[in-house]
Formats: sequence, structure tokens, C-alpha cells
Amino acid sequence: MILIFNMNNYLDKVTPLSNDLKQKIFDWKQNDFPKYENLYKNLDEKGQQPSTMIISCCDSRVNPNSLFQSEIGAHFIHRNIANLVPENSASSHFYGTSAAIEYAVNYLKVSHVVILGHSKCGGIKACFDFFESDNKNKSFIELWLEILKPTFKSLNKKLGRSEMEKILEKEAILNSLKNLLTYSFVKQRVEQNTLSIHGVWQNLKDASIEYYDNIQGKFVPLE
Ligand SMILES: [Zn+2]
Repeated sequence: MILIFNMNNYLDKVTPLSNDLKQKIFDWKQNDFPKYENLYKNLDEKGQQPSTMIISCCDSRVNPNSLFQSEIGAHFIHRNIANLVPENSASSHFYGTSAAIEYAVNYLKVSHVVILGHSKCGGIKACFDFFESDNKNKSFIELWLEILKPTFKSLNKKLGRSEMEKILEKEAILNSLKNLLTYSFVKQRVEQNTLSIHGVWQNLKDASIEYYDNIQGKFVPLE
């Protein structure tokens, strides 16, 4: 038998945490954990009961816990490139996000799902590079962003690039909300008014926040 990769040796490649990361954990244990010790113990015993699922971008500049002032155990957070939700489809291979949504909605019974997008999103910018070229060997990022391809194609290409990026950042949030409703367990709970879904966009530079207002049919400033 030919071994493609000797799996017995893979643990040799795993190194201890760097001193910097270790120090962060020591500091957290010493300064942060004691403040919430009882809460952690309680959540450990009784399990989590988050009220809200947040689907945000992986971007290091986006901090959903900070933005929503998350108490420990309050928000179930899933992050991926460009805060996308794949459509529920038999041919989809994007199980990670779908599994997280299923768990939050069916098992944790969250009351809200928030799609959190942001300005200067690298995933959104990448759509313009990928979809305007004819790459034969697609990267994982490009394959993932295919979720947004129909939305990208519907953009008004006469606008300037930065304006189109801003529009796509918000259209991507709406696309995620649309795709959320392709999951029968989401649709059912929304129709029963036991689950509400929301779209939020954060401008990184000045903390201005917009949310989708279904009465006005557009994103409006949070005031
Ligand atoms: Zn992003």
C-alpha cells in the first residue's frame, strides 16, 4: 500500500503556542475569567442558550462580540469570508455554514439571525477580480464566492469600482437573507414569528451602522 502522506508524523509539525499567545491566555485567566467565573460555571452545567446567531465576515477588523456587547453565551457566532449564506441545494458543498445555521435554529432555538456585513470587505473586492477573469484553476476563495456570482452579475457595471463594491457589500447581506429562507426550518420559524432575520452593515472607519429596513426597502442609518 502506498501512503500519500505519512499521517504518523503529522503531529511532529504541531508546535506549542507562541509566548505571545500564551501570555494572552494567562492574562485572560488572571484578569477576565474571574469576573465571569460563575457565568462560565453556570453555562458549563446548564449548556448554552444564546438568543441570537450572528453570521459575520472572518475579517479581523470586524468584532461582533464587541459591536453587540455580547455577554458570554448570548450570541452564537459563525464567521466566513464575506458573511455569506449558501442556498439550500442538493448540489451545494458548503456544509459548514449550513450546519451552523441548522444547529442555531433547530437545536439552540435562537430568536434572531443577524447577517453582519462591513465596509472594505476583502471577500467582496475579490469578486471583482475573480469574476472578471477566466481562471481555470479556481482557489477555495473563488469557489466559495461563487455563492455571490449571480448577485455580482446583476450589478450596474457603469458605476465606479468603489461604488459597486459598496453596493455589493449590502447586496451580499440581502443575498444571505434570501438564501437563509431557502432552509425550510428557517422559513417555517420566520412564518411562525418565532425567528426574525436581520441585515446589518458596519462602516469600519467611523462606526456608522446601517440596517435593512423592510418598510423602506433599503439600508438605513441606525440612529
Ligand atoms: Zn469581509
